[in-house]
Amino acid sequence: MAHGTIEIDHARCKGCELCTTVCPKQIIVMDTTTLNAKGYHPANLFDPDDHCTGCAICAVICPDTCITVYREAAVHLERR
Ligand code: SF4
Ligand code: SF4
Repeated sequence: MAHGTIEIDHARCKGCELCTTVCPKQIIVMDTTTLNAKGYHPANLFDPDDHCTGCAICAVICPDTCITVYREAAVHLERR
């Protein structure tokens, strides 16, 4: 399974929650403990067990392109 992670631009997030609804791993949550300068609760990645696959569905649906996706390149390991 591919491994990935995301970065969310909290300052630009408008708290629409769309990304939380589409993530197949359900690892994006709204941070209700903070407000950004726009007055919204920003989305946050909560992935302590490294479930993110880097599928990028969250980035595609974000209307404000706040999400950057990183996906680990496949590494071919050779047994010696
Ligand atoms: S890249 Fe995919 S698995 Fe990772 S947080 Fe976004 S929607 Fe979820
Ligand atoms: S879809 Fe984008 S703007 Fe909406 S909550 Fe997620 S990161 Fe914020």
